[in-house]
Amino acid sequence: MHIHVLGCSGGIGPGLRTTALLIDGQVLIDAGTGVGDLDLPAMRAVGDVFLTHSHLDHVCGLALMADNLFECEAKPLRVHATDATFATLREHVFNWKVWPDFTRLPDAEHALLQFLPLPAGESRGAGGLTLTPFEVCHTVPAVGYAVDDGETVFAFTGDTCADDRLWAALNALRRLDHLMIEVAFPNSEAELGRLSRHFTPAVLGRELRRLKHRPTLHLTHAKPGMEAEIERECRTALEGWTYRHLRTGDIIGA
Ligand SMILES: [Zn+2]
Ligand SMILES: [Zn+2]
Repeated sequence: MHIHVLGCSGGIGPGLRTTALLIDGQVLIDAGTGVGDLDLPAMRAVGDVFLTHSHLDHVCGLALMADNLFECEAKPLRVHATDATFATLREHVFNWKVWPDFTRLPDAEHALLQFLPLPAGESRGAGGLTLTPFEVCHTVPAVGYAVDDGETVFAFTGDTCADDRLWAALNALRRLDHLMIEVAFPNSEAELGRLSRHFTPAVLGRELRRLKHRPTLHLTHAKPGMEAEIERECRTALEGWTYRHLRTGDIIGA
């Protein structure tokens, strides 16, 4: 499994891109601003997009990517998400006002975007991988994904905070080699983290004790300008763990 981190930041700025992971060149998890670095052939090679939730930093690239692909008459793009996420996208993004409804273009039968509901707990194959969403705690309905290639297992939590369901889902995996997990705010912003349903280093360090596996951790979604403080605090909070802070363009070789 070759995971190209197209974006992993909690915001934009020079060199910063929001969440998008390209797996084996064919499967995207989330479509934040990171997809803007894909050239057209790379974009056309993507067959499936799995969304964690409806927040703009995770879906804005899908709208723009659809427009690119439509221009070059690409094959349909299969999009997988929960019913709740699709309902929000239909109502607020692909509504002809914010953006054209590419699930009905060029016509409903040959639509560029195929919305394929995928409830948490159900598995779906794509590009030789099996992806299984699991529910997490955020301000809107959200899932993470376990990705299994038959050998190794990679999991991405998406945006989340302390929650029993997260650890139950991860502990139930047959193995867990790499865990990409968010830590968006420093400890000084604990209240904001609690309200916006994101991890801080202290909460993450405490919660990780509930994990039965011992994966390599890949930390993501730091808010711009807060990276140094978060990294400093993680040195204490994540002592004993093998981890790194992801950057745009990193590769996770699972
Ligand atoms: Zn979010
Ligand atoms: Zn986010």
